[in-house]
Amino acid sequence: MASNGKHEGHDSDSRSEGANGPEMTAEIKDREYIREQLSVIKHKVLVLSGKGGVGKSTVAVNLAAFLAGQGMKVGLLDIDIHGPSVPELLGLKSATVEGRDGKLLPVMSGQNLKVMSIGFLIRNPDEAVIWRGPMKYGVIKQFLKDVIWGELDYMIVDSPPGTGDEPLSVAQLIDNPDGAVIVTTPQALSLSDVRRCIGFCRKLHVPVLGVVENMSGFVCPNCGEKVDIFKSGGGMKMASDMSVPFLGSIPIDPAIVVASDAGTPFAEGSASSDAADAFQKIAASVLSRTGGETAQTAVESSTKTSEIESDEEMPVTKIETKKIAVPVIEGKLSQHFGHPEYFAIFDVDTSTGKALSSQKIDSPPHQPGLLPGWLHERGVQVIIAGGMGSRAKDLFSERGVEVVLGVGTDDPSALVEAYLAGTLTSGDNLCDH
Ligand code: ADP
Repeated sequence: MASNGKHEGHDSDSRSEGANGPEMTAEIKDREYIREQLSVIKHKVLVLSGKGGVGKSTVAVNLAAFLAGQGMKVGLLDIDIHGPSVPELLGLKSATVEGRDGKLLPVMSGQNLKVMSIGFLIRNPDEAVIWRGPMKYGVIKQFLKDVIWGELDYMIVDSPPGTGDEPLSVAQLIDNPDGAVIVTTPQALSLSDVRRCIGFCRKLHVPVLGVVENMSGFVCPNCGEKVDIFKSGGGMKMASDMSVPFLGSIPIDPAIVVASDAGTPFAEGSASSDAADAFQKIAASVLSRTGGETAQTAVESSTKTSEIESDEEMPVTKIETKKIAVPVIEGKLSQHFGHPEYFAIFDVDTSTGKALSSQKIDSPPHQPGLLPGWLHERGVQVIIAGGMGSRAKDLFSERGVEVVLGVGTDDPSALVEAYLAGTLTSGDNLCDH
């Protein structure tokens, strides 16, 4: 990597942070810094797929190019570490990345599109990249932290395929994305991977903007007949079964391969093809679903010659969630807030009053005043506890975290259920120190 990852004023150096959790403190600082950096980017869209080779990068590149063509300032971040194809798809294979003040400058593609890809930094593109998990996380983090993106209307992120550690890192590091566009092909295998992808988004509270079915049928260039090589329509059915919007289908089109090999976004290069028309409708739909500023203009211009598909009415699935934490000892609520074995953290859907998932997070070594910031950093909005010192209570309230005190020793999930049902019995703060 060209950057050393150190910046004045934002350094992750935690030597002065005391003995407890220096790595954790550095991680928190990094995440805060990334949040601050990305706060000047109006919309962030992740492009995901259940597996590789379905056209995820093709969709990401064309979406970014479409938005840039609408006059918006766009960033395209390619963090598909094992298959970074963005430089090739944009004809930027020989581009080099320049640095400034220990940071990386994105490569420009035309006037409005800033691009960063791991592909720019690997000397030999044919060499397999073998990195261990923490290194991959580090690289993804560095691309968000150490690239000078500046103010943008949109950032499109070409994520690694699947639902493993790499897409998880992306979803965790990018705060409040507008949502994810999920790309699939019509085969059953690809569709089942996509179901997992939707479940992954739901767990991480990333709204699903919609599903794109790529390689959906082939229109014969000679007779115009459509042949469903990999079947078609499965994406739409799956989207409807899983209550997520369907954004449209893109047929197999040899012009896409030609455009990809030539490094030109196909939606620009061959504006009259079925695939380009289909793609423009999809991009306009993403724009209107994310409330992009020139959404109306984009939709109007793309509907001049063809009608937008009727899925326009479909709502974006955004689950209203909350994170609730309970200190636990021996499987039950710990009456001593500062000394639990672990915290049970529940993600709950406040509209249905149901827990979506829960996880156990080991409590950090005891240090007065640490827990409120630590839990807040993990997105916790409600604490259910027995007793708590007044300082911790104040620190939570400064951070806007709701604290329910005087709750009896019980099973954490039963307590969360009672909280959601409005029947949780609280009482006096039972703090004994
Ligand atoms: P992924 O990012 O999912 O691995 P890519 O976007 O790199 O997939 O696409 C894989 C290959 O398939 C590329 O060569 C691309 O040009 C080609 N491709 C993608 N979509 C289509 C399509 N609709 N018709 C024809 N070729 C396509």
